[in-house]
Amino acid sequence: MSPRVDLRRVDLRGRMPSTVELRAALPRGGVDVDAVLHQVRPVVDDVRARGVTAALELSEKFDRVRPEQVRVPGAEVRRALDDLDPAVRAALEVAIERARRVHADQRRTDATTRVVPGGTVTERWVPIERVGLYVPGGNAVYPSSVVMNVVPAQEAGVASLVVASPPQADFGGLPHPTILAAAALLGVEEVWAVGGAQAVALLTHGGTDTTGEELVPVDMITGPGNIYVTAAKRLCRSLVGIDAEAGPTEIAILADETADAAHVAADLISQAEHDVLAASVLVTTSADLADAVDKQVNEQLAATKHQERIATALGGEQSGIVLVSTLDEGIAVVDAYAAEHLEIQTRDAAAVAGKVRNAGAIFVGAYSPVSLGDYCAGSNHVLPTAGSARHSAGLSVQTFLKGMHVVEYSAEALAEVAPHVVALASAEDLPAHGQAVERRFPGKAAE
Ligand code: NAD
Repeated sequence: MSPRVDLRRVDLRGRMPSTVELRAALPRGGVDVDAVLHQVRPVVDDVRARGVTAALELSEKFDRVRPEQVRVPGAEVRRALDDLDPAVRAALEVAIERARRVHADQRRTDATTRVVPGGTVTERWVPIERVGLYVPGGNAVYPSSVVMNVVPAQEAGVASLVVASPPQADFGGLPHPTILAAAALLGVEEVWAVGGAQAVALLTHGGTDTTGEELVPVDMITGPGNIYVTAAKRLCRSLVGIDAEAGPTEIAILADETADAAHVAADLISQAEHDVLAASVLVTTSADLADAVDKQVNEQLAATKHQERIATALGGEQSGIVLVSTLDEGIAVVDAYAAEHLEIQTRDAAAVAGKVRNAGAIFVGAYSPVSLGDYCAGSNHVLPTAGSARHSAGLSVQTFLKGMHVVEYSAEALAEVAPHVVALASAEDLPAHGQAVERRFPGKAAE
């Protein structure tokens, strides 16, 4: 018998709570990364001290396989692509091509400001030199994550990209073939068979393989992973750049009476399919739609594969249906929640979407479901979770670029502003700062 789900209701009609009350009304699931730091610290320290030797021992312990070498031979990467199911290959090619077009348009151009005659400041965008991409390989395989991390890095101009993914006992200690094939399709040649915290540590500190090949330390690590991967990223973040720490995935759907309950239910279910901690929240002005979605969820659940996981996620306190009196109140609710994914299924959906301030990505109208964005819309699916969409954006070309200010002043331009520099330096009791300017103009010391 399939499980039954009762999505909890939060009725805000006639009373709009404060932001604090709203956040409490829509709690989020999460994992306690701090709780595993004491387990992960020795792993990171061991890999820093003993490199690949430690990584191989840790693979044996945690992945129950010891690869002969950690660097995956290029021939294995190419073979995985040759053996890839043609339908999956065609789908990945579409996903890559669309993502490339979208991300190529995002690259910022350098900007030069002529502050005064002879004085300019240029903001120069420089790609991060070497990036390590972690691709999970514990419970499931995510070739789409390879696409979503590699494409923006390549479009930003990152010169050197390395993929790390756990060795699989079922595949002779190589990473999963679908991951290798996705890397090959994207033109990534350097892949290392190492997972978990040991992968993050090896990417951070580098090492020499049993074959003598060197893993050059990276400048930044991106990509999702389990709690150990996240803890290792937290420990290594002073040495390498990292992307955001991803929490459980979320969808919020803002809908009115024009929405199709079957579509809304399908999208709530598809998000819950990720994880028992995933959050699926419907915010609606229509009590009739809420009832119809409840009914649809249970009908559709009976016909779906991962029923237990979905039922747990939808029945958890992180999921539910929020009733509001007006669409403007609904916008206030979704803004306070700041979902990773936000669907707008209302009349004039584009206009409603235009008023939203906080979401990782917005999916507008009946035919832009989140599943499209997960794979083939062209948008990026690595998005801010846990309310961080209030202040952060998803992965993009910008993630892999550093803005550098380039300052160039002539003697005349410096002389003109020298008294102000000296005044501020003396106000901060840093007279040597002022003198560094004055020395350039002997006999013309600023009074
Ligand atoms: P994983 O690759 O992150 O973790 C598996 C690795 O964990 C193994 O290689 C093992 O070596 C290591 N490990 C196990 N116990 C360890 C320990 N005690 N210390 C150090 N390392 C240890 O794969 P997973 O477990 O399947 O997790 C993948 C996660 O990524 C899931 O939570 C999934 O939801 C998430 N994910 C998120 C996105 C996104 O876009 N947000 C996309 C894909 C996956």
